[in-house]
Amino acid sequence: MNEDMARIVAERVVERGDLPLLGQDPKRTYRMGIMGGTFDPIHNGHLVAAEQAFDDLGLDVVVFMPAGRPAFKQNKRVTAGEDRYAMTLLATSDNPHFLASRFEVDREGITYTADTLECLASIYPSNVELYFITGADAIAEVVSWRDAHKIARIAHLVGATRPGYDLAHARHAIAQSPYDFDVTYLEVPALAISSSYLRERVAAAQSLRYLTPDTVTGYIHKHKLYGVLPRRYGKTAIVDGNDRTEGMRRGE
Ligand code: NAP
Repeated sequence: MNEDMARIVAERVVERGDLPLLGQDPKRTYRMGIMGGTFDPIHNGHLVAAEQAFDDLGLDVVVFMPAGRPAFKQNKRVTAGEDRYAMTLLATSDNPHFLASRFEVDREGITYTADTLECLASIYPSNVELYFITGADAIAEVVSWRDAHKIARIAHLVGATRPGYDLAHARHAIAQSPYDFDVTYLEVPALAISSSYLRERVAAAQSLRYLTPDTVTGYIHKHKLYGVLPRRYGKTAIVDGNDRTEGMRRGE
């Protein structure tokens, strides 16, 4: 990359605000992990998976990218993007090679991974390789996502699973695809934790300690997400009118 190109890349990244500056040295290859998920809420399973991908795949950085309006979740309640982004930022802030990005949260309309990856590929020079990391369940569906052929061309895929998870479905779907996906599977014991488990625990006034960073728990309680019941001296009280889901905000 010549000096002009390096300047152009730096300007594009600076415009984006929260993306890492990568690709400066043309003599080496950079690996950028993109942790894609709804993160409703983010938990220690996600954090361990990203750290494991960072180590195992020799990534330079992992960018956590909460989905804006997730595709395939149009009929489900999803917490507002602003809250999911804030929790992701809190959870990742103490790790020097993790970043949280508003890239998808700020985008209008439904979030399609192909659009995100295409946009990132246009920002970064060709010596920056993109690794899209997500749950293995989602990887099994990637073949049917919009513009799947672009995803196969632009990025390596990383499917994170819990031990004992049967990968046959994902492997079969990828093998049957007409597109040439490059997929790595990572077994992550901490993925026994799930966002739905955390939501259920919050609604039942149970502790989230050791399941997600305390900063995230603090945010959930402060903003009364997931039907939180305040814990006071072992007694609970119901909080009214605190649903912060997007569906409710849109009056659906
Ligand atoms: P999901 O269906 O809610 O999640 C499937 C499974 O994967 C769940 O067990 C989930 O656990 C886990 N998971 C999700 N993200 C993970 C991550 N980064 N690391 C480890 N496990 C993860 O999937 P989703 O959250 O809606 O979507 C995942 C990603 O795929 C997002 O970036 C989304 O935008 C993208 N996507 C794109 C399209 C498309 O372009 N057409 C369609 C669907 C999804 P938790 O619930 O605990 O996270």
